[in-house]
Amino acid sequence: MPRLSEASDADCFDLVVIGSGPAGEKGANQAAYHGYRVAVVERRSEPGGGAIAVAGVPVKALRDTAVYLTGWSRRDVYGVGISLAPDLVMNRLRARMGEVVETMTAAVAQNLERHGVELVHGDARLGPDRTVIVRDPEGRERTLQARVVLLATGSRPYHPPEVPFEDPDVHDSETVLSIERLPERILIVGGGPVGSEYASIFSALGVEVTLVDRGERLLPLLDRELSETLAENLRRSGARLILGGQVESVRRDGEGLVVRVDGEDLRPQIVLHAVGRTGNVEGLGLADAGVEVDDRGRIRVDQSFETTAEGIYAAGDVIGPPGLASVSMEQARVAMCRAFGIPLKECVDPLVPTGIYTLPEVGMVGLTEEAARAAGEDVETGRAYFAANPRARIAGTTEGLVKLVFRASDHRLLGAHILGEEATELIHIAHAMLHSGATVREFIDTTFNFPTRADAYKYAAYDALQHLEARAGSPERVEENGSRRGALVGGAAGPVLSNVNRVVNARRPGRYVVAHNLGSIGPTRRPRRSGRGSRSRAVVK
Ligand SMILES: Cc1cc2nc3c(=O)[nH]c(=O)nc-3n(C[C@H](O)[C@H](O)[C@H](O)COP(=O)(O)OP(=O)(O)OC[C@H]3O[C@@H](n4cnc5c(N)ncnc54)[C@H](O)[C@@H]3O)c2cc1C
Repeated sequence: MPRLSEASDADCFDLVVIGSGPAGEKGANQAAYHGYRVAVVERRSEPGGGAIAVAGVPVKALRDTAVYLTGWSRRDVYGVGISLAPDLVMNRLRARMGEVVETMTAAVAQNLERHGVELVHGDARLGPDRTVIVRDPEGRERTLQARVVLLATGSRPYHPPEVPFEDPDVHDSETVLSIERLPERILIVGGGPVGSEYASIFSALGVEVTLVDRGERLLPLLDRELSETLAENLRRSGARLILGGQVESVRRDGEGLVVRVDGEDLRPQIVLHAVGRTGNVEGLGLADAGVEVDDRGRIRVDQSFETTAEGIYAAGDVIGPPGLASVSMEQARVAMCRAFGIPLKECVDPLVPTGIYTLPEVGMVGLTEEAARAAGEDVETGRAYFAANPRARIAGTTEGLVKLVFRASDHRLLGAHILGEEATELIHIAHAMLHSGATVREFIDTTFNFPTRADAYKYAAYDALQHLEARAGSPERVEENGSRRGALVGGAAGPVLSNVNRVVNARRPGRYVVAHNLGSIGPTRRPRRSGRGSRSRAVVK
């Protein structure tokens, strides 16, 4: 798309972005970097979106501060426990959160400025013919003309009508950040990432935590083994988990809050409701602009992130799951590359890693063992526990494990699951391996620094290899064209599996093959044809 001429009117832009969260910021910078004239409209007083003001960033700052102040899992190692005065600790935590938010907000503002993006303060809505009308806090309106619009207005916590959020002690994931005193008892509704992260943090701070979730386990997106181990860790740290439980009512009597759960009256000092989010679509003038939303109020987009209105794109939480800052940024970058014909990014990484900042952390990428099996894959798994990992032992943080899921037929990695310190960082090794179509062999052949937690990958791979070799003493042959290629399956595992297959099978299969009868595997030269129409099964060793 040609750029606007320099003589353009001050209110004419190649791109106007509504919202300056992860999606808005990165989309704006992507276009501006390639020479397009860009404005970002933000209704908060500072840029950075919910992610920096009230979501991921402050919660992670709270978590890290809680870990530092309490010593968390290292308390037992060094015999040092810090007792925290409830009235002082919240001040400390909030002061640190404030510093982090300030630094990160400044970084976003500087980044926009460095790219020459104009930041416009006000509430934006769509006008006719790709105009964006901005109302500033004084009520003045300015109309921006755009050739492309990016809607990146994000989401907010869902407030079911039966929950009395008007009560000062009933919070959502954003308002809980502003409590002034650490409660003695908190009841958290929701065992998803947000509820579980807060449960970990409050538990580490010595608060009596009760977490209620309708599901039979925490974080159902996780591999069952990890979710159960995490639940066990939380219980050991003193939290009460009511899984498969139903919150029947939240009310206040003369003595305080009363939460009825499965017929039992619980008396927390505060309630945190952490179930669901709603897209910020109200007041944007979507219908008049021809932008359709689905039956759950999420803006509909195609593969280019273009909405049903030509030239109007949308990215981030406002288009629905997965509701991650990491993915929101990528969606917006791809959207802007597509909109302006920038030959940099065609699509969003089909293998989205997940990081959950509980105590301990969780990282996962690819298929869980259950999802792989449900999709008809024959799998083998390998595990290495941090209790046996030298670096974890030295540090005294030995909770958790690395679990790898391999396809039995060709030993290819299908998924990786880590519970433990730095899991959200470590998972990117598996992420890269998965992208390269790695088999168990790549983990075994890699030299890891010693001592490192990453070394646990190698031992998880050895464990998997043992299981693979034990299969009838004669592992299956590798199909040169890859077995079960691109299987399309239904159910929850379907999209993930087809994504894993898309990536795994895009690589050349057969780089490592199984030696018949020897039960060993190793690198091969490219298989030679042994005869017309038949491809040799290359045997190594
Ligand atoms: C407690 C919590 C923890 C999280 N932790 C993580 C994590 O660890 N990792 C991760 O990847 N994700 C995490 N997330 C999710 C992440 O915060 C969101 O996915 C991300 O913020 C979405 O980015 P976005 O740009 O779509 O929207 P947002 O960050 O919500 O930004 C949207 C912006 O648009 C502005 N806006 C809305 N409407 C208008 C309008 N009409 N005019 C002008 N401006 C407007 C808003 O003021 C806001 O600033 C977490 C979320 C929560 C709630």
